[in-house]
Amino acid sequence: MKTSKQEKSSKMSDYEMVLGLEVHVELGTKSKIFCGCATLIGAPPNTQCCPVCMGLPGSLPVLNEKVVAFAARAGLALHAEITPLGRQDRKNYFYPDLPKAYQVSQSELPIALGGYLVIEGGKKIGITRLHIEEDAGKLIHEGDEGTCIDYNRCGVPLIEIVSEPDFRSADEVKSYLQKLRATLMFIEVSECKMNEGAFRCDVNLSVRKKGDTKLGTRTEMKNLNSFAFIVKAIEHEFNRQVAVIESGEAIVQETRRWDASKGMSFAMRSKEDAHDYRYFPDPDLMPIAISASLTDEMRKALPLLPDDYIQKFIQKYGIKPALAEQLVTSKSIAMYYEACAQLTTAYESLAGIMVTEVMRLMGGEETILVAAEDLSDLVDLVDGGKINLSIAKRVLNEMWDTGKKPLKIIEHEDLWPVVDLDVLTEIGESILKKMPQIKADYLSGKHQALGAFMGQMMRATGGKADPVLSEKVFLTVITDKDH
Ligand SMILES: [Zn+2]
Repeated sequence: MKTSKQEKSSKMSDYEMVLGLEVHVELGTKSKIFCGCATLIGAPPNTQCCPVCMGLPGSLPVLNEKVVAFAARAGLALHAEITPLGRQDRKNYFYPDLPKAYQVSQSELPIALGGYLVIEGGKKIGITRLHIEEDAGKLIHEGDEGTCIDYNRCGVPLIEIVSEPDFRSADEVKSYLQKLRATLMFIEVSECKMNEGAFRCDVNLSVRKKGDTKLGTRTEMKNLNSFAFIVKAIEHEFNRQVAVIESGEAIVQETRRWDASKGMSFAMRSKEDAHDYRYFPDPDLMPIAISASLTDEMRKALPLLPDDYIQKFIQKYGIKPALAEQLVTSKSIAMYYEACAQLTTAYESLAGIMVTEVMRLMGGEETILVAAEDLSDLVDLVDGGKINLSIAKRVLNEMWDTGKKPLKIIEHEDLWPVVDLDVLTEIGESILKKMPQIKADYLSGKHQALGAFMGQMMRATGGKADPVLSEKVFLTVITDKDH
């Protein structure tokens, strides 16, 4: 007989999720999309605005050429077709952070149409369109004192990248977002700082029985800006929709807000359709003309993209594809890997240390505080068996903080491994004397007792005992009748 839990999970597995994404990215131009105001993050509220970006009557916008160039470059990097004659439209809605009561966006004639991005594992995700638009201001809720408005963000240029509903799992979404973010960073159109809201994502999700071809009713979750939240929000919404359908009710087309602190989503409003916005061409703005020759020129000027680096890392250095994918999630990591790979041939160890330890120390930023030659030296020490990985981590932490060379740190702090067999034997004997159970366990066939012994050896030597010699010591001591 099935338990209720098993029944529930078998029902879950009858369904699949269908996801599409809308990603908003703030472009890294120095000035806003229609005026000369600065786009610096962190300026005091309402110090970077003017009549144009605050939407005062009678002000006239002038399109920033750089915004078009950046958006077109992004379109080309995503293998999309550039629209020769684009248009900008007004998207009408009222919200306190939008003083004009419309947002300039693009409706039928966006900058780019029909591209794709390859995610980990080789699946192609279709890109429907890429258009430019302006960001809105920011509401700052001050509790009992009310809500304040900061217009500094009004008119900061954005691109919106809309995907096809090609995703079937949260992992695919994460992989796509990582690759998309890396691509935009590699072509230098945005720093994509997620914690500053410069790279944020709306998730459209519906569910259907596996094998069905018709799409279910979708809901939208807006403004997710961390990979961890996105994965959690998707899993939660999938479970919620399946539960609604299984209870015999229908999914309501709506916009939902993800509350990360509660780990739940809440209905915000019924979802608008495009016609609700009453799009019409902005009469103050000229069409955007991009000639075929300019498009060709821009295509030729594209730098190497993350996928190019992945191929290079696999072919030139023999790196496994999954590791190569990790190495290109950050531009500085990819460049740094290239630099270090000229100085050491321990390519796999180098990649391993970079995607774990170096990326941990970077903490989501793009700055690397260790010189390529110093990291290569450290990797050579590990790869040559001179120091173990846990010592290497300690040394790397200090290299990061002080800029010192690895050998200097090892010498100064006496971190060379203990390789003296007599010393190790003496330590091993005293451990087994204090803990006879380890020997008894091992002799009765519990081989994990060796792990316990190694742990004690590392503890006694501050992590410096040579592992191979220590194991040898253990086997010698326990089979020696004198002990
Ligand atoms: Zn302005």
